Formats: sequence, structure tokens, C-alpha cells
Amino acid sequence: MSAPTVEHVINGQRRSTGGDPIDVTDPATGRVIAVIPAAGQAELDEAVAAAQAAFDQWSQTSLTKRAGVLFAFREQVASRRAEIEEIISREHGKTRPDAAGEITRGLEIIEFACGLPQLLQGTYADQLSTGVDTYAYREPLGVCAGITPFNFPAMVPLWMAPIAIAAGNSFILKPSERDPSASLKLAELWAAAGLPDGVFSVLQGGPALVDAILAHPGIEAVSFVGSTPIAKHVYERGSAHGKRVQALGGAKNHAVVMPDADIDEAADHLVAAGYGSAGQRCMAISAVVAVGTEEETGPLIKAIAEKGKAVVVGPSTSEDSEMGPVITAASRDRILSIISETEAEGAQIVLDGRDLSVPGHAEGYFVGPTLITGIDRSSRAYTEEVFGPVLVVLRAADVDEAIRIVNEGPYGNGAAIFTSSGAAARKFQREVQAGMVGINVPIPVPAGSFSFGGRKASLFGDTHVYGREGLNFYTRAKAVTSRWPDSALRPAASLAFPSEP
Ligand code: NAD
Repeated sequence: MSAPTVEHVINGQRRSTGGDPIDVTDPATGRVIAVIPAAGQAELDEAVAAAQAAFDQWSQTSLTKRAGVLFAFREQVASRRAEIEEIISREHGKTRPDAAGEITRGLEIIEFACGLPQLLQGTYADQLSTGVDTYAYREPLGVCAGITPFNFPAMVPLWMAPIAIAAGNSFILKPSERDPSASLKLAELWAAAGLPDGVFSVLQGGPALVDAILAHPGIEAVSFVGSTPIAKHVYERGSAHGKRVQALGGAKNHAVVMPDADIDEAADHLVAAGYGSAGQRCMAISAVVAVGTEEETGPLIKAIAEKGKAVVVGPSTSEDSEMGPVITAASRDRILSIISETEAEGAQIVLDGRDLSVPGHAEGYFVGPTLITGIDRSSRAYTEEVFGPVLVVLRAADVDEAIRIVNEGPYGNGAAIFTSSGAAARKFQREVQAGMVGINVPIPVPAGSFSFGGRKASLFGDTHVYGREGLNFYTRAKAVTSRWPDSALRPAASLAFPSEP
């Protein structure tokens, strides 16, 4: 039996194309479970034309009506979340509870967007000058596009589309070709919520489609989330084509553990943050900076190794599984080679996930939790984003050295400190160069009413996603200065720039 075809959604219609096929694989079995015929220029042109026509109507739809659609979409996602979770686990491989967490975070953003009548309120200054009032508000941009990564096939699209659509834009989503089907479910739920055809579209494809989006004159803004080299490419090419671009890239998130921290609790959190979702989270902790002497840091390393060893690795179809496979065979092979290379350089593999076998899943892309100590900071296990269940441990003498280590890295997404010292936490928070900081919180993803974004090689462009910053990204400002004819207030017109208020 041939694998089903993953469709596009253009102007409210599910459609397929004859483009170059891309296989979608179940990472737990290695089997091809779907095929994507990638959209080409013709489908992109059609989707943009439909999105432009839809924008003309949607942007004129009252805020109250738009809010109604957002509320209905929230109910659709909440009541049918199990369907989305099943799709995510099947194509991505993450456990069902992890997929459920992804939907909960996505719902937060929709709930924020439901407040659009208040969020889109402008500002007004009465009698700014005599007889003159000024007011400022924000208008939608037009057709916006989102290009998203494999690791959160529902949450990351939900970081973008609800805010863009609430603001009055239309939105074209190009999901990851590794796990494309959650986007189709989202399109179905938008339609069920009453969103007019063409306001939310989905185009399936890979890099060629991304480049076509970046060059398309009908698209005003592009939100991208993915790896750093592609984020940089998207930012540069999209900007060169005159688009507004926000491009979130990869990460190497450090957790600093002070000797005064609750070691058992810190180890629990580090295991969850390092190995959850097989380390395939942009906010995963991948480097631990253990502060103190060897005697002080030894118990932490021992606790992480013991707890990491106990993690149950298996397919998402098993309720016992706590961690699933990595996304592709290529990803697994790269992770394994990085571990072996680091070992050859003299590092200690304290917990070794290379020889893991999952019964009945010999062809799956599984790697077990891995803990490495004694690494050189020039090692690939440290310089590259491994994006697998691999934690490396570095040592620092004090909080200053720990902060220096974190700041010397090229990325600046998240950074966490575990400590019972307010002074150390405050110093860390103020000096660390990261966009999101956790104090005894390993994965400090801001809630939906705040905004998400890193620094340095983790973000190209200056706006974070969702929350207020997301709303700013999808709107542009207009300031109106108005004077109404009034004989009592008739000003003298002058060729000189006015100097009297
Ligand atoms: P990726 O960069 O390979 O792919 C992301 C998107 O870019 C996909 O839609 C893909 O089709 C497209 N793409 C891939 N190669 C391309 C190319 N050469 N030209 C144009 N487009 C291309 O990322 P991924 O492997 O899907 O996701 C994992 C990465 O995403 C990790 O680096 C992770 O840290 C990062 N990520 C970052 C955040 C964040 O908020 N900073 C969030 C989630 C994931």
C-alpha cells in the first residue's frame, strides 16, 4: 500500500500537486508513512493571491467579530487536542504527554490573541497642540508567512498565526517537511472556527519553497523558526527582498549549578530539560556548568547519570515511554558520531546512549540519554548544537567564571541558574547574555502573555515572537495629527516650521 499524500490548503481547499515528492518517516520504525508533493511557484502564487483577497475582507472585519473567531478557534483546539497530539507523536516521535504540553503552550498564545480588541487599542493625546489632537494605532501588514521547524509542529505555528490573524493579516504556513500533518489539522480547526477561506493557508515543501516565499513580492513579512544557518539565510534573503523578517535560530543553552543548589532537584530538572523530547528543543539544556570543587560537583554528575539511566526510551505508542527517538537516521548518525568523536578526544562518557536497543524497533532512530564530562570546549559536542539527548558538563570555580563561559558561546537563547543564593541569581540574571533566563527553572519559556526570543546567533531581526512583540511584528504604526476648522482657534499659517505650541 502506498503512503498517503500530504496535501496543501489553498483558499480553504485541500489540494495536492505533482511536485517533487518528499518522504515523511515514522522515526520510531523508520517506515515511510506519508509523502509530500512539494508546492511550486504556481501554488505559491495562487495561495498568495487568495491570501491577498482574503486580507482585503479580513482586515476590514470588526475586532469584535475577529475576536469571536479566535475564541472559537481556541475551543476547537482545546476540544480536539487529542487528534493533534496523536498526529504530532506519530510523525515527530515525541511522547503523548510531551505532545500534550505542546498544545497547552499553543493554547496560551491563542488565549492571548483572543484579547485583540484591547491589544489593538491605540493611544490618544487630546489637545496636544492648541486645537490639535494626535492619535496613534497599528495596522495589519497584509500577507504574512511562517516557516517552522520539525520539533514543535503545532506549537511554533501557534506562536505565529493566531497573533498575525488577530491583527488582521492573512497567513501562509510552510511547516517542516518532517512532520507536516499537524498544520492541516490546524487549518481544519481554523475553518471550523469560522475563519474565512484564504486567511490561513498551508503550503507543503522544503528549501525551494522557502526561497520562493522569501522572493515573493506579495508577502509582506516572514516569521522563521529553525536552525541558525537557515535563520541567517532567511533573514538576509527576506530582508533583501524588502520584507519584515524575524528569524529565530538554534541554541546551546547552559544551566549553571551552584554548590548551594538543591542538587537532587537540580538533577531532576536537568534530566528533564536535557533528555525530554530527546533533546530536540531549542530551549533544551545541553551544557551544565557545575560550579565548585570536584568534591562539590561530583554528587551532581552522579545524580544526573543515575536519573538519566532510568529514563524509559521507546516509541510514543507505549505509555511507558518517557523519551522518543530523534527525528531522522541522519540526525541519529550525526549525534552518535559526535559522541564517539568526543570520546576519542579524551572526554568521559559517563552515561552512554549509543548502544541503546528498543525491543521491536530496531529500525527506529533511538539514542539513549548521554552524559559527557571532561570535554574540551573546542569539541564539537560543545561548539555545535547537537539537538539530541546529550548533556555535556563543564566546570567553573565560581559564578563569575560560569557566566563568562556562558557568554563566550555564540548563542543566546536561554540560560538557567540553580542556586539558593539571591545574590548569585541576581548577578547571573543581570550579566548573562541570553534572551530568556531561568532561576531554578531549567526551560524558561515565557508564558503566552510575554514574548519569546534569544540573542546573538539565536535571533536575527529584533522582534521576539508572540505576546506584545509578536503583535508589533505583525502590525505597523500610524500616527494621525488632526485639527478641525474652528473659528475660535484659527491658527496663523506660516512658511516657517511651527515653533509655538
Ligand atoms: P531547519 O532549519 O532544518 O528547518 C526549519 C525550516 O527551514 C523548515 O521549514 C525547513 O523546510 C526549512 N529549511 C531547511 N533547510 C533549508 C534551506 N537550506 N533553505 C531554506 N529553507 C530551509 O530546522 P529543524 O531541523 O526543522 O528544527 C530544529 C532547529 O530549529 C534547531 O536548530 C532548533 O534549535 C531550532 N529551533 C529554534 C527555536 C527558537 O525559538 N529559537 C524553536 C524551535 C526550534
